[in-house]
Amino acid sequence: MNEAAKQHSAYKWLEKSLETIHRANWYRSVKAIAGRPGAVVELEGRKVINFASNDYLGLAGDERLIQAAVAATQTYGTGSTGSRLLSGHRELHKELEKAIASLKQTEDALIFSSGYLANLGVIAALVGTKDLILSDKYNHSSLKNGAKLSEAKVIGYDRRDITDLTAKLHQYRSQYRRCLIITDSVFSMDGDLCPLPELLSLAEAFDCMVLVDEAHATGVLGNTGAGCVEHFGCTGKELIQIGTLSKALGSLGGYVAGSNTLIDFLRNRAPSWIYTTGLSPADTAAALAAIRIIRAEPQRRKRLWQNVNILKQQLAKLNLLPSQSPIICISLSTPAEALNLAEILKQANIFAPAIRPPTVPTSRIRISVMATHQPEHIQQLVKALKLNQKFMAYP
Ligand SMILES: *Cc1c(COP(=O)(O)O)cnc(C)c1O
Repeated sequence: MNEAAKQHSAYKWLEKSLETIHRANWYRSVKAIAGRPGAVVELEGRKVINFASNDYLGLAGDERLIQAAVAATQTYGTGSTGSRLLSGHRELHKELEKAIASLKQTEDALIFSSGYLANLGVIAALVGTKDLILSDKYNHSSLKNGAKLSEAKVIGYDRRDITDLTAKLHQYRSQYRRCLIITDSVFSMDGDLCPLPELLSLAEAFDCMVLVDEAHATGVLGNTGAGCVEHFGCTGKELIQIGTLSKALGSLGGYVAGSNTLIDFLRNRAPSWIYTTGLSPADTAAALAAIRIIRAEPQRRKRLWQNVNILKQQLAKLNLLPSQSPIICISLSTPAEALNLAEILKQANIFAPAIRPPTVPTSRIRISVMATHQPEHIQQLVKALKLNQKFMAYP
């Protein structure tokens, strides 16, 4: 391209935009991890203790999941070769959907290629232009974009704020046909929980559907690992549960769980399920193996929570965001401070990333605890954080 053409390129704004991102300290790039996932991983040639993973139970590197994926690949090949309604459906998919429904104690479930696609497809199928969505302002990107895609009227309510939600229901509910309340169950960048029992009673009072995203709760919360719904004693109540196979379940994919009617409807109406290729045999089999392990080995969840409680106790003096999950965030005042602390931790062989705007409104170091962290891993993190408390000194 000659100089004159470059001047007038329709793509020139991209560079400018990137410069702005750099200047705000918002720039992000990928970092390669070598080898299998686990509590310790190799990051850019350095062995680090991993506090950045969603693999809460340490299943993504588990030999049994790997063997299940290999066996399924040998039997069914690498790809599903079509959408589920055409040539892409295997018995294995049905088996996984039954296992999810059984864990969640719902009538049925439907698996998607990712949790993100599950939210897009389900929300867009359930509501449209005549309808209202009330969305927690801290919801995950996939919930927000699902709401946009649906073309329903979207109104945000303040984070976990029942009073604000009630006021908005009084103000707007009667102007719309259907209403859907959508929320993360464990807030993914904060670690606290949605007020599910209160949301469900409000929904009943105002004739609304409720969709909860159990991405960070499945396998982690509740007596049997069924998630936040179980944790709050809401099992069996009528609601729509979304989740992912890619966090505690160590695989890839997403799901929705609920009534037979809901799932049957979604098989006919969810575009991100109908018009995409069925989940690969390997991912399906790995997730199925993970669910069996979650049910057979509750000690994994127990160890996870022991680690969470030890770490919370030891960090009690730092400025932690409120958390009721294995996601523990240290609040910092600027993106630069968060980046700085992440770098210092990395020098101490600890991988705990800085999370900054626009992902979240305020900067933080986000720590995710795993069942497979050993006591010395936790102690090393605590030591490094205590040595660097000066970086966290602010009101
Ligand atoms: C990770 C996450 C998703 C997306 O799940 P994927 O399977 O990774 O696409 C959706 N919702 C929430 C709350 C998440 O944290």
